Amino acid sequence: METRTIQIFDTTLRDGEQTPGVSLQTEEKVEIALALAKLKVDVIEAGFPVASPGDFEAVSQIAARVKGPSIAGLARANEKDIETAYKAVKKADRPRIHTFIATSDIHLEHKLKMTRPQLLERAEQAVRYAKSLVNDVEFSAEDASRSDWKFLCQVYERAIAAGATVINVPDTVGYTTPAEFGALITHIRTHVPNIDKAIISVHCHDDLGMAVANSLAAVTAGAGQVECTINGLGERAGNASLEEVVMALNTRHEYYRAITNVNSQQIYRTSRLVSTLTGIAVPPNKAVVGDNAFAHESGIHQHGVLNNPLTYEIMSPESVGISRNAIVLGKHSGRHAFEERLKHLGYEIDTETVNTLFAKFKDLADRKKMVFDKDIEALMVEKAAVRPEWYTLVYHHVASGNQMVATASVQLRTSAGVSEAASCGDGPVDAAFKAIEQAVGFPVGLKDYQLKAVTAGEDALGEATVWIEQDGRTFSGRGLSTDVIEASAKAYVNAINKMLAVCGFPAVQQAQGR
Ligand SMILES: [Zn+2]
Repeated sequence: METRTIQIFDTTLRDGEQTPGVSLQTEEKVEIALALAKLKVDVIEAGFPVASPGDFEAVSQIAARVKGPSIAGLARANEKDIETAYKAVKKADRPRIHTFIATSDIHLEHKLKMTRPQLLERAEQAVRYAKSLVNDVEFSAEDASRSDWKFLCQVYERAIAAGATVINVPDTVGYTTPAEFGALITHIRTHVPNIDKAIISVHCHDDLGMAVANSLAAVTAGAGQVECTINGLGERAGNASLEEVVMALNTRHEYYRAITNVNSQQIYRTSRLVSTLTGIAVPPNKAVVGDNAFAHESGIHQHGVLNNPLTYEIMSPESVGISRNAIVLGKHSGRHAFEERLKHLGYEIDTETVNTLFAKFKDLADRKKMVFDKDIEALMVEKAAVRPEWYTLVYHHVASGNQMVATASVQLRTSAGVSEAASCGDGPVDAAFKAIEQAVGFPVGLKDYQLKAVTAGEDALGEATVWIEQDGRTFSGRGLSTDVIEASAKAYVNAINKMLAVCGFPAVQQAQGR
């Protein structure tokens, strides 16, 4: 059997954006899409254009600015959705419309209130209309894994006859098992007469922890496209994780006889970028991209890996873009060395950005003896998170101890001037947050706060993430510093800026508010 190339369809920006607590702004979505293009995924599902004007705008921007992958927009099986999706993706070099309708009896009866013949008709019309607008049309039978197999095959046959180039088989509710799902794919291959005119795609959810296993079983049975997300983000328990699907196919290509076009060395930094911009942390034990994925704790394992990595390593950290060597730069490193390191890490950036980053690097090297690759990656990701900021933190001063009440004073700058405030609190971080809240002059709904070290060592760079809530939406902010209070205060201000960019000033109006 010859080796097949499996298409990787990334839906981080559509299904992944439906992760509870995630809301990305247009610039953040473009930043992620650019990273996905570098990762060399085949298709980027950029959003659901009819869902909101914000979704439409993000998909349009990505279609116009991100080159390489096909850009897909999701649409229900109706004219308005399809037309809106078309308007959003039309500027892409290779636009795709992805239209879907549910085919299981549960959905037909309780959601769509349609009969099977009516559904066949609707699916055909939707695909035909999409095909009149673009050449590349994907058709999804929502809840396929709980649909009647015979009926499902009829739907796919009609969709392909109407012009679908890809037919997607979603396990929408994460219910199937690898053997069962593989059998369904085989059944479709042998019972849909015109199946050779379309690629079979799968879209698996992880409710029972089997999304990746189900996707791979489908590949073995002949599926040619896998839908997945960075870090496995997505509705409920999430989707199949892109990094796990890709590395399973890479590592076991002799077994699967299949590869992908993905540049695996971009996996780690894409994972970090997505984690930072969505505010959803990657668990340390997560396969492929978790902090512990390549850490060998037991002495026997460490000894083996030092003699020959193959003893306990089935893939190398370098293959996913994690560098093994530790120390890179220090305070005496010059601009040239810094730029070389960025190139080595795979970043091609303009001189102006290198200058900005170099200034940040110098500042960091002053505070920290050794600057590691992970620190540089963190600076890069922080750059990605920069947006027009309403407030900037000018200074903060915090006094705390076990015999005193923590007090903080802060100064924030806006285009309208500076704002100062002081407050006491339950510990130094709480005091700093309360002082910032007073300085901005409206209540900030703090939801969650997290602090972690980017690298090991007592002078490690601390990375703080803060989640705040406004109008029922969650916004995450991130701050980076060797001083954990400063990292926390920066994260809090960053979250407030993101919230203001979307919601405007809350009811308590500032004089200069929008
Ligand atoms: Zn889904």
